[in-house]
Amino acid sequence: MNKPKIVILGAGYGGIMTTVKLQKMISVNDANITLVNKHDYHYQTTWLHENAAGNLHHDNTRVPIKDVVNFSKVNFVQDTVESIKPDDNKVLLKNGGEIDYDYLVVGLGFEAATFGIPGLIENAFTIDSINTARLIREHIEYNFAMYNNDPEKKQERLNIVVGGGGFTGIEFVGELANRVPELCKEYDIERSKVRIINVEAAPTVLPGFDPQLVEYAMNSLESRGVEFKLGTFLKECHPDKIVVEKDEKREEIPTLTTVWAAGVRANSIVEESGFENNRGKVEVKPDLRAPDYSNVFVVGDCALIMNKETERPYPPTAQIAMQMADIAAHNLKALISGSEETEEFVPEIKGTVASLGDDDAIGVVFGKKLFGWQATVMKKVIDNRWLLKLGGIGLLLKKGKFNIFH
Ligand code: FAD
Repeated sequence: MNKPKIVILGAGYGGIMTTVKLQKMISVNDANITLVNKHDYHYQTTWLHENAAGNLHHDNTRVPIKDVVNFSKVNFVQDTVESIKPDDNKVLLKNGGEIDYDYLVVGLGFEAATFGIPGLIENAFTIDSINTARLIREHIEYNFAMYNNDPEKKQERLNIVVGGGGFTGIEFVGELANRVPELCKEYDIERSKVRIINVEAAPTVLPGFDPQLVEYAMNSLESRGVEFKLGTFLKECHPDKIVVEKDEKREEIPTLTTVWAAGVRANSIVEESGFENNRGKVEVKPDLRAPDYSNVFVVGDCALIMNKETERPYPPTAQIAMQMADIAAHNLKALISGSEETEEFVPEIKGTVASLGDDDAIGVVFGKKLFGWQATVMKKVIDNRWLLKLGGIGLLLKKGKFNIFH
């Protein structure tokens, strides 16, 4: 009998954890497992804001796939997925190749949603991979380096605009607030000349967070020089300025650096491949299978799960992606062995912690509000826990965050 072919797309939180679990659960005699990913490394997306600001080297954020995936059990293909043909059980790759599957796991993550705002795609940066984070870091540093070499000393070199006061935007301005004084020292620039501007359309940052935590976060960031423009819409993005609007009044802010962190959507490959979707995401069945294809599992940010209590979708998080990987791996094993029922996915939300730089944070964990050093420690525990789950104590010791007390 032919062994079933399991193909996993994407080595993010959902995809790589499904692979690591499966290689332990399924013998090479029982299935062929293939992992396809753009790069030969996994990266912790939740750390990218630290790389983008220049506070953490990107090598700390990435893990070579060969270090955590056993290539004698899993076939690794480094390539970019172009499309999925679910009616033919095929995946088409950028290099012209194609891969057949019996079971598929889609874990291709997210991409920026730019809501048709003119100039954003062309002129704004986004924080979504090692490559984009490294580019932002280099771009900001280059403009600081240029400033004193520029006869006009253009202010737009020192204005950094971050669009979006959600989780990613706030974590990024927190990192910038710590990084900018270092850059000022390095390039002989007065701190007062540099602006870090956060633009948010809602009346508050971190919508959905406890108001006391939001106030703490804003105070912490403002005390380190972050300016907030709340209830303000980013209307246009140009190479050297943005246009914002509040109460029907428009304002231009000169800047060479706009980082768009105000919204994500599922990887558009999902929608383009013809899966039944809800605003680009696959609303998966309780056992994480696509409603229209019983041999396709969808994990992480490509999947949509409704929270029955709030009747709203769960926000896309690494926490949920990791938990989905456990269930997807279990259910694949059940289908292949034919001896077990598939299990239902029930998210277990342990809490949320947002960093405000390396030395401050806010969060709610097991229902308890955390501020300052307690939240900072918790954030690092969460980051380290992932490394431990992914690659054991060896990976934790190599890449872990242990600078807990400042
Ligand atoms: P990802 O982890 O994004 O992985 C997708 C993988 O697919 C990547 O390896 C990518 O290279 C690969 N890929 C993409 N397209 C292709 C293709 N066409 N072909 C081949 N490979 C491809 N969540 C939290 O729970 N807590 C946090 O504190 C938190 N902080 C965040 C901070 C930032 C700056 C950002 C951007 C996000 C944060 N999130 C956080 C959200 C979290 O990162 C995502 O929900 C999570 O990464 C989703 O996991 P995933 O497995 O779906 O996709």
